[in-house]
Amino acid sequence: MPTTADYERMLRDADLRVTRPRVAVLDAVHRLPHADTESIIGAARAELGDLSHQAVYDVLRALTSADLVRRIQPSGAVARYESRVGDNHHHVVCRSCGAIADVDCAVGHAPCLTASDPHGFTVDEAEVVYWGVCPACSTARLPQ
Ligand SMILES: [Zn+2]
Ligand SMILES: [Zn+2]
Repeated sequence: MPTTADYERMLRDADLRVTRPRVAVLDAVHRLPHADTESIIGAARAELGDLSHQAVYDVLRALTSADLVRRIQPSGAVARYESRVGDNHHHVVCRSCGAIADVDCAVGHAPCLTASDPHGFTVDEAEVVYWGVCPACSTARLPQ
């Protein structure tokens, strides 16, 4: 896990001012892959004490636009955040409980699918989400 000094360097390298909420939120996103906003607020508050929802939303927005954090939002689910950025990896999502896991991009860069007809568009990304049932949920579904 990165240290506080690492987080401070990431922020400075991204031209973001180093603040305690930014360090706490960055740490929460690193420790809790694919966490939703509520979990990140909980983790950041455990670290800092008082911290408003709005402050955490603002920090997440700043970290996401600086590409320090990636925001994903499978359809029908709340937004999740992760620290694994810039590698065009995909996600497999459980239809039953919403569990999310990383799936490496088979090609390694975007767009990893070729459009059969891009209609003249310059395509730079194919958004791939694998949907299914996670091991815990498939076990729970087995007849007794
Ligand atoms: Zn599940
Ligand atoms: Zn991921």
